[in-house]
Amino acid sequence: MSDCIFCKIADGEIPATVVFEDDELLAFEDVNPRAPVHVLIIPKEHLSTMNDPGPEHETLLGRMMLLASRIAKERGVSEGGYRVLVNCNADGGQEVFHLHMHVIGGRRLGPMA
Ligand code: 5GP
Ligand code: ZN
Repeated sequence: MSDCIFCKIADGEIPATVVFEDDELLAFEDVNPRAPVHVLIIPKEHLSTMNDPGPEHETLLGRMMLLASRIAKERGVSEGGYRVLVNCNADGGQEVFHLHMHVIGGRRLGPMA
């Protein structure tokens, strides 16, 4: 999508600190990290929100979860603990309307708000 900031990151038009990339997925550092580890995982395909994936995206979503687990291990937070979350639409606090998964850790996050 032409005016989507995360599509532009996936296309290399906007720089990001990439931590993983393959043909379907991209993971990069959040520009405004809320914790010592704060990585975003996106599908390269533009899906706006968590409402958009269909059955054809089952493998893609599973791969995003497995990548979150892998990144947590690589960053050394898997044993201490971390949080994986997807914000959806206004009540979920979504700000960027290209589906993304946050991987947040490296400090005591406390209970969910
Ligand atoms: P949301 O609230 O939509 O779930 O989270 C969007 C996230 O994207 C925020 O944590 C924000 O810091 C991050 N973000 C917004 N714009 C950019 C950007 O241009 N580059 C990077 N790396 N992260 C961004
Ligand atoms: Zn997009």
